[in-house]
Amino acid sequence: MIDINKLADRHERLHKRHQSAFGSQLPDAGVVIVADPNFIRTFSGQVTWATLLNLIARLYKGIRHIRIVVDSDVPRLSHVFFPNASEGLRAASLRFLEQLNEDAFTIGEGLPPNDGPDWIWIHVGAWDPRHPPGTAVAGQGWLAFVNDESWRGLASVSNPIGPMVAACLGTAEIYKALYPLSDKREQTRIVLSAFDYSADLSSNPVLPASIHLPETYIAGCGAVGMALLLLLNSTPAISSGSGLHVVEDDALDDTNMNRCVLTILEDVNSRKTKIIEERLDTARLALKTHDLKWQAFVHAPEYSDALNFERVVSCVDKYSAREAVQYDRLPKVLLTAGTGDFLLSVSRHVLDDGLSCGLCYQAKDPEVGCAIATEGAQRAFEVPVDPSISFVSACAGVLLGGELLKEIIPELNIGRIQNTVRMQVLTGAAKEKARAKDPGCNCSSKYVAIGYKNTWRSSDVADEPSSPSRTIT
Ligand SMILES: [Zn+2]
Repeated sequence: MIDINKLADRHERLHKRHQSAFGSQLPDAGVVIVADPNFIRTFSGQVTWATLLNLIARLYKGIRHIRIVVDSDVPRLSHVFFPNASEGLRAASLRFLEQLNEDAFTIGEGLPPNDGPDWIWIHVGAWDPRHPPGTAVAGQGWLAFVNDESWRGLASVSNPIGPMVAACLGTAEIYKALYPLSDKREQTRIVLSAFDYSADLSSNPVLPASIHLPETYIAGCGAVGMALLLLLNSTPAISSGSGLHVVEDDALDDTNMNRCVLTILEDVNSRKTKIIEERLDTARLALKTHDLKWQAFVHAPEYSDALNFERVVSCVDKYSAREAVQYDRLPKVLLTAGTGDFLLSVSRHVLDDGLSCGLCYQAKDPEVGCAIATEGAQRAFEVPVDPSISFVSACAGVLLGGELLKEIIPELNIGRIQNTVRMQVLTGAAKEKARAKDPGCNCSSKYVAIGYKNTWRSSDVADEPSSPSRTIT
């Protein structure tokens, strides 16, 4: 028997922490998710739709009823993620909701009756004026749209990034409707390019028809890691013969359900590595999982060559794990993400560029010595649980995946972040920043710079700073 309180664990904590900004929860809220009949037949439409269902269902305790409105004859397109084999988009969608649900919410189809709960409406694609006001979301290419129809003029492409970001932002709108903000604001309107974090419709380069994913290491496969993998799996052009290594030594528990986007309820207590093997296209991605801590993994003899670790994507959250990922093998480029409440950050670190590393400004894990190890003292030293929620960590993982694509596709290098981008997911506001090193951080030591240069710079042919990167002012 699943405990709904545990599924919604972070949800409750987050609301408690921001009680002054949010009003009380709508008592009997339901969500109606409506598919635009034309947009839903496109790849972008289906990725927006599938990601939105995935994230909305994981809000659990906030929602009592979910209804979908979608034509029954819409074929299910390949590379759109549903963790089931049901035929057709409608059937796959209903099955997915069941796979995430155990009496947490009711599942319905078609327009809701008038006499029921408070319905919150969200449209994938264009808003249908016959329906009550709601939110409209869509993505196309690198662009995400909320309550803005500029996407209609864009060519349909097979890039899941914009659609997935749009779904995250759309779920944030649902959250704000479930817990109405205390100060009434105007309807959100967002145009966001995940390519350069501007609102510019032209910041939308086409992905190459074929993308070779070189050997890549992903440390950690929780909320952010799974969203990153979902993005790579949903990008039809990607294939890898070299190996996508995922290193994770944890099992899925019920409190992870609200944000681990590749999971379904029956996965609780399974190893995370096993879950991703089941859900992903392992052959196409050349997925290799390692049920180990990063520290143990890099000390295995077959991974002892430092030059293997040209690019590492860190999806771990503890300081000690971040430290191991940064220093145990000194990756040439380290991409990492973090979340805190409704904020996320995505960062790119090159240890000798003078900018902040993956540890600068990170709070250290508390160390509890014998002298203070009484139960009460231990509690006082516990780090508060980061209550970040599905749509925030999923957005972080998707943007992190976008940064990986910019890293490995030379013609897209120009879009990559120089150091860090932060985003407030409730508003879609994103800002890039180049932060100087924290002088107290180990990365400021000349020995670290020397070690990095000895590993990576001696054989460099053409690399930073000569390769293109946008300058942040
Ligand atoms: Zn540092």
